Amino acid sequence: MSTLSFIPLGVGDAFTALYYSSSIVVEYDGRRLLIDCPHPIRKMMLEAGTAAGTRIDVDTIDALALTHLHADHASGMEGFGYFSYFLLKKRAELIAHPDVVDRLWAGHLSAGMEQLLVKRDPPPWETVHKELADYFHHVPLVEDSAVTVGPFTLRCRKTIHHIPTTAFLISAGGHTLGYSADTAFDPALIEWLSEAELIIHETNYGIHTPYADLAALPATLRARMRLIHYPDDFDLGQSVIEPLKQGRRYTVGTQP
Ligand SMILES: [Zn+2]
Repeated sequence: MSTLSFIPLGVGDAFTALYYSSSIVVEYDGRRLLIDCPHPIRKMMLEAGTAAGTRIDVDTIDALALTHLHADHASGMEGFGYFSYFLLKKRAELIAHPDVVDRLWAGHLSAGMEQLLVKRDPPPWETVHKELADYFHHVPLVEDSAVTVGPFTLRCRKTIHHIPTTAFLISAGGHTLGYSADTAFDPALIEWLSEAELIIHETNYGIHTPYADLAALPATLRARMRLIHYPDDFDLGQSVIEPLKQGRRYTVGTQP
């Protein structure tokens, strides 16, 4: 029987010197969703996959679901897109809310991806202009409705963050995983996420969710919660909510 599971590629924040920044691979029935794509994504995939006893690389990912455009979540997208384009000869599937994608090209990727040199016969080289759609096939998420990609059904909800950001509910095989993405402490978001059997929630300083607020949640809810995006000085041993570790496989729901 298939099981919904995930492997963290990174668990740290934008400033981490100890970890990679936060990203996970969700797996069901041999199909994989990558949640966020920081640099160096292929090294993160290799190391987490090796630790978990499986091969993870761009060619094993069915789709990339993007929460927002901060670099610690999206800085690997140029490399991911070029790997798909040049080596896999296909566009990468990109699942995201239109507000998240809105500035992905003009504000982030176009500087490095909007033109390619193509060798002509006879020379010289020809400059070819490219658009986001040459590298990525965008599957738009809509709040309050579900989008299905392969065996996965995704729902999204806006979070409280500097730039447009969405949390996810990811369902497959009758099980559901919640992912808070970057957010301030938001009881309404946690209520929305609590439909999931397992909730991955961020914690950090500043406008992020304070650990103390999560630690004060009911014990039954905390037991279904795992932490990601924690700062380097976060005391893993003292946490009353289990912090995720890179390269470990976690199962969602009861084993069949
Ligand atoms: Zn952010």
